[in-house]
Amino acid sequence: MPFVSAAEWTPPKSVQVVVIGSGAGGAVAAARLAAAGFEVVVLEEGGHYQKRNFRMREDEAFPQLYQESGTRATKDLGIAILQGRAVGGSTVINWTTSFRTPDLVLDHWQKVHGVQEFGAAELRPHFEAVEARLNIQPIPLEESNRNNRLLWDGCEKLGYSIEVTKRNVKNCFRSGYCGMGCPVDAKQSMLVTYLPEAVEHGATVVYRCRVDRLRTDGDRVVAIECSELSEAGPTGRQLSFAAERVVLAGGAINTPAVLLRSGLGDAFTGRRTFLHPVIATSARFREPVQAFYGAPQSVASHHFAHRGERAGFFLEAAPAHPMMLALAATGFGEAHRSTMVELPQLTAHLAIAIDGFSPEETGGTVELRPSGAPVLDYVLPPRIWEALQEGLRTLVRVDLAAGAEWVQTGHDPALRISSEGALASLEDHPLGPGKVAVFSAHVMGGAMVGEVGRSVVRSGDLRHHRISNLHVCDGSIFPTSLGVNPQETIYGIAHLVSERWTQHWKS
Ligand SMILES: Cc1cc2nc3c(=O)[nH]c(=O)nc-3n(C[C@H](O)[C@H](O)[C@H](O)COP(=O)(O)OP(=O)(O)OC[C@H]3O[C@@H](n4cnc5c(N)ncnc54)[C@H](O)[C@@H]3O)c2cc1C
Ligand code: SF4
Repeated sequence: MPFVSAAEWTPPKSVQVVVIGSGAGGAVAAARLAAAGFEVVVLEEGGHYQKRNFRMREDEAFPQLYQESGTRATKDLGIAILQGRAVGGSTVINWTTSFRTPDLVLDHWQKVHGVQEFGAAELRPHFEAVEARLNIQPIPLEESNRNNRLLWDGCEKLGYSIEVTKRNVKNCFRSGYCGMGCPVDAKQSMLVTYLPEAVEHGATVVYRCRVDRLRTDGDRVVAIECSELSEAGPTGRQLSFAAERVVLAGGAINTPAVLLRSGLGDAFTGRRTFLHPVIATSARFREPVQAFYGAPQSVASHHFAHRGERAGFFLEAAPAHPMMLALAATGFGEAHRSTMVELPQLTAHLAIAIDGFSPEETGGTVELRPSGAPVLDYVLPPRIWEALQEGLRTLVRVDLAAGAEWVQTGHDPALRISSEGALASLEDHPLGPGKVAVFSAHVMGGAMVGEVGRSVVRSGDLRHHRISNLHVCDGSIFPTSLGVNPQETIYGIAHLVSERWTQHWKS
């Protein structure tokens, strides 16, 4: 019974290891533990969709593969949040950009947050292992689509450093549909790599099975309580069983939500949730850009990642499909239509703020709605608004340098800027909640690792400070954001920590 829906599954009385969530952290942990001989059950609230289901249609993919059908947002609706909800988690729908964790970030975690045993030297062999397993390799610049190439050209003209990125793909035909699930299994997501590997080693992956809460007694989890789901929602059937060890890997926002629903909330749980808040431009070029085709992301500029006392930001491109643009574009009626008709000629370029590195940047807080569903309360501090403002100004300059006829911002109503001289108009339109479209596809933190009394899980083995058989293994353990796309950091940490578990748990 390798991949089985909750409806078809009868839980055993007890299992050795239960992994909650099958994304970047959960899948790697499950594969490594199963390969080491542990009896592993993976529980996933989303469905089991595979390449035959990936029909390159946004209207099908968003309800099937995204949290809240792609409509998740912060409590004040100020920031749209994209996260996955399927077997394979967000890796099924991500855009494949892969970076190791910058050494400076790991040093910061050690010095400021007391995170020991996750240094660059300790992680290096684990990054090497996941890079080999997931075929993480640089994409040649010639294979960039025009959207990415224009970002490259604009940066080069202005003298900003820019690099090609690495991707976790094999035989990719650059369809551009990564965000809707890869239709040819070229993307080396968890769905086609570590999860099948876990199953080969005897793991069971139970999908449409949502963990509602962990029942604890003293310092131990004694039961995992779940709801069976159908495509339409909970069926009413409850499942409950015991596990010797619990690995919580529901991703940021959802992992702290499980802890809060389980009565394990404290001053740190759900806190310090970071988003890499994103501001975007759409620039019109005379020749078609077709930002919906080609590898979604293939270049990145970290020229402005370190701005001294001010928060940094980095630049990347994004795929622009009709539904995504329709949701992102501000305005109604004619104003909205006038953006949509330009789609084939438009770029989609992003300035991504790096949050969490200053005492003022405390991040968002996960709360529970009366239904038990999580919601993130994140009011961006002035430092991050300043980074977004500067990021926007930089993007407009880059787009104009690349030859754009005009550059449209995400203000409501949108501004169109067609010359360097007109850049000053941005000053008359300060950014702020509800004044401009802000997004996130990188949700991090909320169950941070660090010293006792300042964090949720401890260094070394990511064990919950109070609950001895509970570990967290996903992007929620980050004490800050990263300044690079997060998937490889999660793979590397999961690879490293599962090796430590194997050694400790076997003895
Ligand atoms: C559109 C998009 C594009 C992205 N592009 C990139 C990119 O190019 N490069 C990059 O590095 N990163 C990218 N990311 C981010 C990256 O994919 C995530 O940071 C990473 O997958 C997070 O891993 P995780 O293990 O923390 O959580 P996830 O991969 O999100 O997995 C968590 C899983 O747990 C399940 N779950 C949650 N709660 C429960 C519960 N209570 N019971 C059962 N199951 C539960 C969820 O359904 C989900 O499947 C992108 C993300 C999105 C959404
Ligand atoms: S761009 Fe490549 S990896 Fe992405 S969906 Fe298309 S074929 Fe798959």
